[in-house]
Amino acid sequence: MRTLPSIREMEQAVRQRDASYEGIFFVGLRTTGIFCRPSCPARTPLVQNRHYFATAREAIFAGYRPCKRCRPLDTNGQAPGWAQRLLAQVEQAPTVRLTDTDLRRLAIEPARARRYFLKHYGMTFHAYCRGRRMGKALERIRQGTPLDEVALGNAYESHSGFRTAFAKTFGRPPGRSRTQGCIVAGWVESPVGPLIVAANDDGICLLEFTERRMLETQFTTLRKRFACAIVPGNHKHLDALKDELARYFAGTLKEFSVPLVYPGSPFQQAVWTELLNIPYGETCSYEDVACALGSPGAQRAVGRANGQNRIAIVIPCHRVVNKGGQLGGYGGGLWRKQFLLDLERGVQSFLPADDRSCDGLERAAR
Ligand SMILES: [Zn+2]
Repeated sequence: MRTLPSIREMEQAVRQRDASYEGIFFVGLRTTGIFCRPSCPARTPLVQNRHYFATAREAIFAGYRPCKRCRPLDTNGQAPGWAQRLLAQVEQAPTVRLTDTDLRRLAIEPARARRYFLKHYGMTFHAYCRGRRMGKALERIRQGTPLDEVALGNAYESHSGFRTAFAKTFGRPPGRSRTQGCIVAGWVESPVGPLIVAANDDGICLLEFTERRMLETQFTTLRKRFACAIVPGNHKHLDALKDELARYFAGTLKEFSVPLVYPGSPFQQAVWTELLNIPYGETCSYEDVACALGSPGAQRAVGRANGQNRIAIVIPCHRVVNKGGQLGGYGGGLWRKQFLLDLERGVQSFLPADDRSCDGLERAAR
């Protein structure tokens, strides 16, 4: 999704080193081939030498390398400061509706919040808040709180207004929801771009790259498989996964231990379970997987099931490569597959503040 602000707005943001544009765009300097965050403290490049990008990935593919001062790839698993403040505000009082005026009072441009949420979360800020409110409401209903109390606590003027909004989000009226679970989705910043993660009480059921074209289909499949709605929120399994992912990307975690749920056809489930047996730092071919399953010659079907894996990274479909050693395919893009394999082999690819960074990635892109 292309969500760049106007050139004029970006020029002004760079001139003012405005940190509130972090995560919204990146600026490349043609004369040096370096790209920066909008707030980089280094000298401001001349307007005609600037090149704007929506993502760090695009800047890298255009041949720019990350600046050593502002480290545009170094996300530390954090959303930018202003977005963190906004998310904290929503978490603190999810039932309070934040209007555009409220956002301005928090020194956040509503249009900027909209762009950030669309780009990183795939939904508007208001849709995110509505989802959070409804997720909280379902939690309380399941705890046995009377419906009227939940409706009032969610800032709905009337019981019926609440019921309508609830049914819109969850697809069933609140009275019949006491025993129903829902899938809780969250987002994680990572060196390979923002990730969307989702879990139910049994375990993690989704980990995907947010820009992946298949994401919508994955959501639909999840809703059908689990027969429930997906709402943004917090969950203990998501917290555990975020912690493990941070250690994985730091190179210190070699085996994930979060519980996983991956319903599918018997063949898909057999493939996904087999993938979990490929050790960290190693690869095998589609043929190898087919043989391990006792179905030699089924490498095409293995490849297909591999591409349908809903829990990227943790179920390591990136460790399956072509027989000749070439990368083969990857739903998240070959550059990510190369990044993950390099990370696991301890090879510097394009980690921040590394001059060889771009070389590694360009090799991956070829
Ligand atoms: Zn910089």
